[in-house]
Amino acid sequence: MTGRKLIRGSCLCGAVRFEVEQPFLRASHCHCERCRKHSGTAVCTQARVLRKQFRLLRGEDLIRVYGKGEGAVKAFCVTCGSSLFGGEWPDGPQVSIRMGTFDDDPGIRPQCHTFVDDRAPWDEITDDLPQYAAGLIQ
Ligand SMILES: [Zn+2]
Ligand SMILES: [Zn+2]
Repeated sequence: MTGRKLIRGSCLCGAVRFEVEQPFLRASHCHCERCRKHSGTAVCTQARVLRKQFRLLRGEDLIRVYGKGEGAVKAFCVTCGSSLFGGEWPDGPQVSIRMGTFDDDPGIRPQCHTFVDDRAPWDEITDDLPQYAAGLIQ
C-alpha cells in the first residue's frame, strides 16, 4: 500500500463491493443516449482510475455487462440493477466507475460534460463546466 486513502464503493443491495486507491484520472458527466437509457435519467457520471488501483471485493458473479462491442459497456448488478462500471469492463487498462456507487468521497469532482448534443430536451446544464459535443479522446 502507498498509504493513500481507499475509497469504498457498492451497489444498492450491497452484494457488489469494491475499493479504489486514489488518485483518479478524470471524471465527467456523459449525456449520450446509451447513458440516458441505462441510468434512466439525464446522465451517467463516472470517474476513471487505472486498473491496478481498483479491487473488486465481492459480487463478481452478479455483475452483468450490456452492450459489448457497441461502445462503452454498461456493467450493472443483476440483483438490484445498480449501474456500476462502464468503459471496457471487465477488460482494459482503466476502470470507469459510476460516481453514485461511492460510499466515501472520492475527492475528484466531475470536470466536464460529454455528448451534450445527444442530451434530452429537458436536460438543462446549469454549471460552467466545459461541454463537448461528443466524447473525449481516450
Ligand atoms: Zn446489487
Ligand atoms: Zn455516455
